[in-house]
Amino acid sequence: MTGSGKAMILTYHSLDKSGSVISVAPEVFRSQMEFLAQSAIPVVPLESLRTTPGAVAITFDDGFENFYTDALPVLTEYGLPATVFVVTDYCGGSNDWPSQSLRGIPRRKLMSWTQLRELVSCGITLGAHTATHPHLPELPLARAEEEIRRSKHDLEDRAGAPVETFAYPYGDTSRAVRDCAAGYFRFACGTALGMVNEHSDPIELPRIDMYYFQNSFWFESLWSLRGRAYLALRQTLRAARQAQLRLHPSTARS
Ligand SMILES: [Zn+2]
Repeated sequence: MTGSGKAMILTYHSLDKSGSVISVAPEVFRSQMEFLAQSAIPVVPLESLRTTPGAVAITFDDGFENFYTDALPVLTEYGLPATVFVVTDYCGGSNDWPSQSLRGIPRRKLMSWTQLRELVSCGITLGAHTATHPHLPELPLARAEEEIRRSKHDLEDRAGAPVETFAYPYGDTSRAVRDCAAGYFRFACGTALGMVNEHSDPIELPRIDMYYFQNSFWFESLWSLRGRAYLALRQTLRAARQAQLRLHPSTARS
């Protein structure tokens, strides 16, 4: 394993066996956490990532209930921190927000407020992911700001912990949306595939989607030169896919 000053933010959505583009199997997640726990790689809260060279931060988008049932016990067992980005109007419901085309995306339960409060007591950090999971740049700016502001305040009021991090739904953002998010959060995550370094924009941090790294060989290679080459290949393929998505937006991921 080679050391590196570059840090990484790992992105998960749902832990389930459906094989969908938002899913990682629970046993794959467990083996990845076991690898990290047994390595010398520092796993840190997202807020500490930029000040810890070579560190990893673990993030989960959307707040699926399978975080509570399948991820929390593993993270607790290995003593690993994580951030969960919550869609506040849908807590206790499902991921059937208006912008969601469920084609190929499993409909899954989301955590309740009671479960979210328990996460806070277990040391998990909650981040905001808007109130209704819209494509923010497509909204009038006042409505985009309302989505951002309300999700932060509802989360702080109902889960009882300060909220300093945010993730843009679908990774969609714009200059105006970023400026707005910067008024409410210290850090925000996009879905641009890449590593974090000292030049990364704290209000649009790149991440590494674990959908592409379910194979343990490639996951463990993230900490080697071979893995960096694979990541570069995934970046190229993803850019091509995003160009295609602009033509066929109904296949967008969450
Ligand atoms: Zn999402």
